[in-house]
Amino acid sequence: MRILVTGGAGFIGSEFVRRALTGQLPVTPSHVTVLDKLTYSGVLANLDPVAGLAGFTFVRGDICDAALVDEAMAGQDAVVHFAAESHVDRSIADATPFVTTNVLGTQVLLDAAWRHGVGRFLHVSTDEVYGSISEGSWPVGQPLAPNSPYAASKAGSDLMVLAQHRTHGTDVVITRCSNNYGPYQFPEKVIPRFVTRLLEGKRIPLYGDGANVRDWLHVTDHCRGIALALTRGRSGGVYHLGGGEELSNRELAGKVLEALGAGWDAVESVPDRKGHDLRYSLDIEASREELGYEPLVPFDEGLAGTIDWYRENTGWWRPLLDAATVG
Ligand code: NAD
Repeated sequence: MRILVTGGAGFIGSEFVRRALTGQLPVTPSHVTVLDKLTYSGVLANLDPVAGLAGFTFVRGDICDAALVDEAMAGQDAVVHFAAESHVDRSIADATPFVTTNVLGTQVLLDAAWRHGVGRFLHVSTDEVYGSISEGSWPVGQPLAPNSPYAASKAGSDLMVLAQHRTHGTDVVITRCSNNYGPYQFPEKVIPRFVTRLLEGKRIPLYGDGANVRDWLHVTDHCRGIALALTRGRSGGVYHLGGGEELSNRELAGKVLEALGAGWDAVESVPDRKGHDLRYSLDIEASREELGYEPLVPFDEGLAGTIDWYRENTGWWRPLLDAATVG
C-alpha cells in the first residue's frame, strides 16, 4: 500500500510515519510520501529516523496547491490526512489560515483523491467538533456544534469529507480523537509548555480556575487507532479514539509539577481562553467493537516518558520556542 501522509512533519503525523515505516503499526505501507508545508509546527527533523529509507519520500508543499497535490496524489492507494492549523489559541487570534488550510486544503485533497481513484481517504479530526459536554460522552452521530474557530474549521472539513463520500462515493473514514500528548509535540501546546517552562525554571500559566476538563490520549495509541481505522474501518465511517484519562487542567498541572519536583508557587493564573469549552468526552465503544481499538498507555506512565523525552531533547525544543508565541 502506498500512502500519502499530509502534515507528516508535525507532532502526530510524524509519529504515524516513523511507526508505519518501522513495522510498529497494524498497517505496513510499501511507500509513504509526506506532503507538508513546514509551517511553524512542522519540523523536518521529526522524520530523520526514516529519512534514509527507500520507502519514504518527502515533498514540501501546501495542501491548498492543487497542481502540487495532483502530482503527489498520483499512484497513491490511500491518504492519511493530518495537515491542519491545529492550535485553538491561534485560531482565536486569526481564524483565516484555519479556514484556508483546514477546509479548502481538505477539499483540494478530496478532489485529487477522487480524480486519481485513491482507495481510501482517512481524515484525522477532533473531539472539539462536538463542542462542550458537561457530563457523559458524545456518541458517534451526535450533531456537530463546534465553538472555537479551530473546531468550526475542523467540523467544516469533516462535513466536506462526508459530502464527498455521499456525492462521489469516495471511500472515506473519519477519526475523531481527544487531546494528544507525547514526544515531539510543539512546545506551545499545554503539556510540553508546562514541561519545558518548568525545565527552564519558569512559571507555568493556568487558564482561569483550571476547571476545564480534557481526556488525554497518548500519541502512540492515537496512531494505532488511525491504522486500525485505515485498515478495518467502514467506508463513510466515523470512529472515536479517546484515551479514557480525564483530568482538569488543575489536576494536569499538579501531575506535571509533582513529576518535576515543583510546587504551586510555580503556577500563575492567566485570564481564561475566550469561549473556553468546559469539557470534551468521546464514547469509544463502537471503535472497540468495530476496530478492536483500545488505548493502552496509562496517563502517568505516558507523562513520565514524555517528560523524560523533553528533558533529554532540549536541542529539539529550544530552537522552537521563538515561534511558540501563543497560548
Ligand atoms: P501539528 O500542528 O503538530 O502538525 C500539523 C502539520 O501540518 C505540520 O507539520 C504543518 O507543517 C502541516 N501543515 C499545516 N498547514 C499545512 C498546509 N497548508 N499544507 C501542508 N502542510 C501543512 O498538529 P498535530 O497536533 O500533529 O495534529 C495533526 C492532526 O490531528 C490535525 O488535523 C489536528 O486537527 C488533529 N488533532 C490533533 C489533536 C492534538 O491533541 N494534537 C487532537 C485532535 C485532533
